[in-house]
Amino acid sequence: MNKDRLLHSLEELSINCNESLGHGVTRFSWSEADKNARAWLTKELHSIGLETWTDGIGNLHALYKGSTDAPHVITGSHLDTVYHGGRYDGTYGVVASLEALRSFHEEGFVPKCDIEFIAFAEEEGSNFGNTCLGSKAICGQIDEKGLKALCNKTGNAWDILQAFGLKPENLPSEQINSQDAKAFLEVHIEQNSVLEEAHIPIGIVTDISGMRLHRIHLRGVSDHAASPMQNRKDPMACFAEIAYRIENLWKENVLPKDFSCTIGKIICEPNVGIIIPHEISFTIDIRHVKLDELEQGLRHIEELLKKVTKERNISFSIEQLSASGGVSMDSKLQSCIERVAKSNNIEYMHLKSGPAHDAAAMGQRVPVALIFVPSIGGVSHCPQENTSPTSLVQGALILKETLRDLCIA
Ligand SMILES: [Zn+2]
Repeated sequence: MNKDRLLHSLEELSINCNESLGHGVTRFSWSEADKNARAWLTKELHSIGLETWTDGIGNLHALYKGSTDAPHVITGSHLDTVYHGGRYDGTYGVVASLEALRSFHEEGFVPKCDIEFIAFAEEEGSNFGNTCLGSKAICGQIDEKGLKALCNKTGNAWDILQAFGLKPENLPSEQINSQDAKAFLEVHIEQNSVLEEAHIPIGIVTDISGMRLHRIHLRGVSDHAASPMQNRKDPMACFAEIAYRIENLWKENVLPKDFSCTIGKIICEPNVGIIIPHEISFTIDIRHVKLDELEQGLRHIEELLKKVTKERNISFSIEQLSASGGVSMDSKLQSCIERVAKSNNIEYMHLKSGPAHDAAAMGQRVPVALIFVPSIGGVSHCPQENTSPTSLVQGALILKETLRDLCIA
């Protein structure tokens, strides 16, 4: 493995394929920066003799040929970022998988089965608020109707894909087939501080949390800011009480243990300093490893919404923007990673993942495993996102050697 080449590849993507240089990394799927990243990645994959192709949603695939047509192993992560995100989330997994293949090529390693590389599109949901769209699309979790229903200011997902030169109509024939694939392996930054606090360089994920993203609309009555305080139907005050009381549900242990709930986005209409707003819409992201606990937490939040809006005479509606099921990592794949870590004298621990990953969608079709490396300070989705070069190299090494093990077995 070439450490410098691995780190240089991360630099290449974060500097030359980035629409917010100086403010972290912004590389939304189907953007100009994304186009540049695909061109660079395709060139690198071709330089080691691999065939590449892009599917209807924009996942970039490549094939490292094996000696038999036994079920193949898949590796990769996502190429897109959030707005003003970091340089490691997703990109690190793409580059680590690329480096494993470059290294195999240099060694002249011939695996028994094919290794498929995938750089997934739209994991972050930056375009439409629907996460893991690339992996969901090839695992049968979203269809033409679903894509046409996803809209942003520039149009719907189906039209945007076609305008980017993709063929979403091909997606039904581009599905991952459970019989053809024996494993999906991804390496990713942890996005939490469990590994850092434990001083352990490698995390072997046991489960990925299920998540739901909802948008809540609170509708009141707009009025002049000088109007009397009594009898107002002010959705902003209502929102403030809801946000405060949701946190109290957690403080009072009403929400299930290890449940997480985040209000990440708020839109105020008309958003003018001298007017009582008529509508507040905001998102609530909830997560839990167990589906029934996730639903139970959601019910508590819905009850609270009903109670507070009724008390304040505000009407409300709730819409689901995104959902992904929790998934358990395959125990045999976890054991394989453990063996590789032991034989390389690298310490590891088991942990759960709160954030969703492409492995969660892929886990609906094939056995999956996810390797974590420490995030410095536990921060991610911001320019401060960081992982030490030593950890980046160790994670890539574990990925590569686990791939090798899976392909010679
Ligand atoms: Zn990610």
